[in-house]
Amino acid sequence: MDTATTPLALDQLRINGDRLWASLMELAQIGATAKGGVCRLALTDLDRQGRDLVTRWAREAGMTVTIDKIGNGFMRRPGRNNALPPIVTGSHIDTQPTGGKFDGNYGVLAGLEVVRTLNDHGIETEAPIEVAFWTNEEGSRFVPVMMGSGVFAKAFTLEHAYAATDTEGKTVKGELERIGYIGPQEPGDHPIGAYFETHIEQGPVLEDHDVTIGCVTGVLGIRWYDCTVTGMEAHAGPTPMALRRDALQVASRLMQEVVACAHRHPPHGRGTVGMVQVHPNSRNVIPGRVKFSIDLRNATDALCEAMDADIREVAARLAADSGLSIVIEPVSAYPAQPFDRECIEAVTRAAQKLGYSHMPAVSGAGHDAVYMARLAPAGMIFIPCKDGISHNEIEDAKPEHITAGCNVLLHAMLERAGVAS
Ligand SMILES: [Zn+2]
Repeated sequence: MDTATTPLALDQLRINGDRLWASLMELAQIGATAKGGVCRLALTDLDRQGRDLVTRWAREAGMTVTIDKIGNGFMRRPGRNNALPPIVTGSHIDTQPTGGKFDGNYGVLAGLEVVRTLNDHGIETEAPIEVAFWTNEEGSRFVPVMMGSGVFAKAFTLEHAYAATDTEGKTVKGELERIGYIGPQEPGDHPIGAYFETHIEQGPVLEDHDVTIGCVTGVLGIRWYDCTVTGMEAHAGPTPMALRRDALQVASRLMQEVVACAHRHPPHGRGTVGMVQVHPNSRNVIPGRVKFSIDLRNATDALCEAMDADIREVAARLAADSGLSIVIEPVSAYPAQPFDRECIEAVTRAAQKLGYSHMPAVSGAGHDAVYMARLAPAGMIFIPCKDGISHNEIEDAKPEHITAGCNVLLHAMLERAGVAS
């Protein structure tokens, strides 16, 4: 028996960080921007070049490639028992117009590096291993975001996705055909034993704690609202303070409460007012109407519900005290998506075994893993990115963190896939 397949040797197994970094830099050349970022919008010629490169690398690593009808790609390394559902990893290779080199691309190429490493050491897994790239995760050129994984998870239909148009009126279906990435497979008609996704954190928490690995426990739920406070416009001079119905004064107290509400629901509560319209928006008129957005987030639906009740109660009290009307209307809601306990533990065990500092983390942003979690046990691995910045050309990550996240992925996937002996 090859010593590389003994349990002791398996624990010593490490990915090739230089090779992974080199692949990331090579893929980042496709659509490279002057400021060091990447602009590779979904289903453009550049996206096709990126897909062509990644699938070429996969074939060179002995993998087979399947494309489904929404252009999702599955690159497969067979296992010993191919009746078992594959252990899947992946992410996306489309970017924002002013995107970085790592968002999404890291998750796909980390998966490829896992396979290259297994090949180097002649390790056969029990279950097959697959690396997926999901179409149009970013949602920049075509809405909705996370389109390929969303169709795969039947969150919306293939027809709905096909009909989406960009600003020039080009459709997803037309562009998929044009770049040659409509495959024969029905989206979702593809088993998944478990799903892991490595990703830069896109936030500042890991860097702030000086921690290498975030063991992601789930993705925050989101509640969006429009709030309207209605008072009465009046002249700023003749109207004494006691006789005013100043909508902005009441609205600003409620805006403070949006933030306070997040603080009342720690540690993952988030409260943001990002958009404000003041009517009539005139220097010497007491504002008669203020409309503003509320964005509330938390780790579970119950906590989102509690924040919803909290802010409504505060608003009702403010309305009663001020005599002004306050209306809070829901705009949209996305459920919280907790990840699978076993997958979270597999990530944590791998980080522990490899000697990397680690901590539980939550994702405030959406990822393809959110949809995969509806279909199969899923988990995510976060690594720090510089200053927590992403969706920006200056997005950056340290090679040692890139390597560490991929090593954690390797060991989490091996634990889940099993090693043939
Ligand atoms: Zn991403």
